[in-house]
Amino acid sequence: AERVEIWQKQLRPEGHYDIILGVRSSVFLPFHNLGLIIVDEEHETTYKQQDPAPRYHARDTAIMLASIYGAKVLLGTATPSIDSYHNALAGKYGLVTLNERYKDIRLPEIRIVDIKELARKKMMNGPFSPELLAAVRQALECHEQVILFQNRRGFAPMIECKVCGWVPKCKNCDVSLTYHKGLNQLTCHYCGYTYAVPRSCPACGSVELVNRGFGTEKIEDNIREIFPDAKVARMDLDTTRSRSAYERIIADFEAGKTHILIGTQMVSKGLDFDHVSVVGILNADNMLNYPDFRAHERAFQLMAQVAGRAGRRDKRGLVILQTKSPDLPVIHQVVTNDYKQMYEDQTAERKLFHYPPFCRFIYVYLKHRKEDVVTQAADTLAAWLRTAFGDKVLGPDKPPVGRIQMLFIKKIVIKLDLNMSGTKVRDYLLSVQRQLIEDERFRSLVVYYDVDPT
Ligand SMILES: [Zn+2]
Ligand SMILES: [Zn+2]
Repeated sequence: AERVEIWQKQLRPEGHYDIILGVRSSVFLPFHNLGLIIVDEEHETTYKQQDPAPRYHARDTAIMLASIYGAKVLLGTATPSIDSYHNALAGKYGLVTLNERYKDIRLPEIRIVDIKELARKKMMNGPFSPELLAAVRQALECHEQVILFQNRRGFAPMIECKVCGWVPKCKNCDVSLTYHKGLNQLTCHYCGYTYAVPRSCPACGSVELVNRGFGTEKIEDNIREIFPDAKVARMDLDTTRSRSAYERIIADFEAGKTHILIGTQMVSKGLDFDHVSVVGILNADNMLNYPDFRAHERAFQLMAQVAGRAGRRDKRGLVILQTKSPDLPVIHQVVTNDYKQMYEDQTAERKLFHYPPFCRFIYVYLKHRKEDVVTQAADTLAAWLRTAFGDKVLGPDKPPVGRIQMLFIKKIVIKLDLNMSGTKVRDYLLSVQRQLIEDERFRSLVVYYDVDPT
């Protein structure tokens, strides 16, 4: 209702708002004399609407909107997206650098802990290294607060039969189910379907079902056991379903009612707490191993943002960064807060392999209930696309999750040279899609495009 009211007021030539504070969809409001758009934390991937359509990036849409109105755009961030920084260096955007830290707070000390080595020596306490536990203990003794960051919600990413190795999977999607202990449920994080936790293994009858890996819920459980006197809160999608729950978690932490805050990337987002002296990054590898060409860029941004929560004006913060790959250059770049080196490394690699920002990507997705139908359709479409784009067409491939909500998925990647006309490419894609759907076999095929995927 509030949105409709703002929309209608904006339509009036007199009486529209002077300033609108909005989420990504506010770029579609009607405007009159638009003068300035500020996109804060421009690197955030949540600016991209992924599903459902329209698939748009609100930052890029804002830049387009501003050019229509002759307005200015200000992109703000401490960890620019490589695309935006590239545009700034290329002279397409202006670049303003703030070298002084907010309130003059010093950058935290970041210590790398090699958890592969510690696991080999059997020195890990669940997901915690001795260094991390010592740092948490010391902070609590000094009445300071702690943030623990783990980019996985739920209790355990999967459960497994100890005898035969059976793993419960979603019946609609090609993924293993996440165990949520509080709800005593198995949940599919792709379609949202929930299942009862089986008492015994349906494959071999064994009752020895064990959980593997660590989600935020399990970390919370373990931390409560290790520090029974500490007040612990968890901030992730599951604990912040309502706006009031989200606000209460933050207010309690700000007021010092909570000592340890455990969370997913939600804890990295623009929150400034005054009494946090220790931040623990439990597993950098989850982020680094994500199958996407932007994985290292994203990991750098997330770790830099979450590390920035540690420290106060009068005391330097401490970040314990746990990883199995301490020798990766990007880990070193996080430790030295060397954005420029990260940018140099990543762009050198992307230039070599012809990745954005040196070209544009279009992902073509095909979905169908039958695997053989989607395979045939994807092969046919890819062959047609190759007649137009040659070796700039990659695939078709099965994405990491090859089936979601009963539909099998194939993905084709098109690499476009930067000087290619977007309009021509779009018209061409639509014409081959029409041709494809004319085939009786492919009638109920779902085809959609993700242009400039993030
Ligand atoms: Zn079994
Ligand atoms: Zn599912």
